[in-house]
Amino acid sequence: VTAPIPREDSDVPAVWQALGLPWIVDAHVHAMPDALQAKVWAYFDSAGPLLGRSWPVLYKQDLATRTQLLRDMGVGAFTSLLYPHKPGMSESLNSWAAQFARENPGCLQTATFFPEPGAAAYVRRAIEAGAQVFKVHVQVGRFDPRDEHLEEVWGLLTEARIPAVVHCGHGPVGTEWTGIGVWSQVMARHPRLRAIIAHLGMPEVEAFLDLADIYPELRFDTAGVFVDFTEDMWPFPTERYGRLLALGDRILFGSDYPTIPNTYAHQVSGLLNLGLGTDWLRAVFRDNALRLWPSIGDA
Ligand SMILES: [Zn+2]
Repeated sequence: VTAPIPREDSDVPAVWQALGLPWIVDAHVHAMPDALQAKVWAYFDSAGPLLGRSWPVLYKQDLATRTQLLRDMGVGAFTSLLYPHKPGMSESLNSWAAQFARENPGCLQTATFFPEPGAAAYVRRAIEAGAQVFKVHVQVGRFDPRDEHLEEVWGLLTEARIPAVVHCGHGPVGTEWTGIGVWSQVMARHPRLRAIIAHLGMPEVEAFLDLADIYPELRFDTAGVFVDFTEDMWPFPTERYGRLLALGDRILFGSDYPTIPNTYAHQVSGLLNLGLGTDWLRAVFRDNALRLWPSIGDA
């Protein structure tokens, strides 16, 4: 089976058809209240000098239109990742995400947190309210994931076996708390944590992939990897394709939609072009996510 390389987003459903998949799962989608989304986009719009290049966000339609576009591309299930950049905002974000998931079938209920007094209490409430995935943004949040307020939080997530998409890599611009050094220490304290390392930990992809040998619950998402935009800066080492193949049951497709400078079709193509085979693609685009969140298979 050879999946056709999609040139435009409207070509994407034909890829799933060729792979024999009824629909796929995107583990790294953002959905957040409009005001917050506008702030995030303003950041990326102005990030040129910071990143050394412009980051034009391609999908700035309203939330309902964006969600429909995902469905049109055959994305049957997806996360709605959001995250705080300061204390005191996580709980309202968690309520918003729960409501959004209720109103949008196929959307996994997301929650988030910040290192602050009470974090463990509201994380516990979010879990009781049905949170299926957490988002942790160490880079934007500019916090230390080893913060004492998070010790109990990591423990709760580990115990509940709820995956957390963690942006702990240095990309696009690191802080003193991003990177493999700090994150390894979190994992050493919580070795069964179901962390999904966002963006394969870019730019330290090799070190993060090696962490998977030690921690069997560690997973990765592909958001922003294997696309021209990042391949220019941090090309994925071709000699490590074998590692991607070996970890094929622990890599989840993610796109970072809608805050991306490339088309969805281009992100999908990036994975197809790796040439890792149909079984790998089926696992990454769907099966691995269904094992992690069995309930979405009933949708
Ligand atoms: Zn993201």
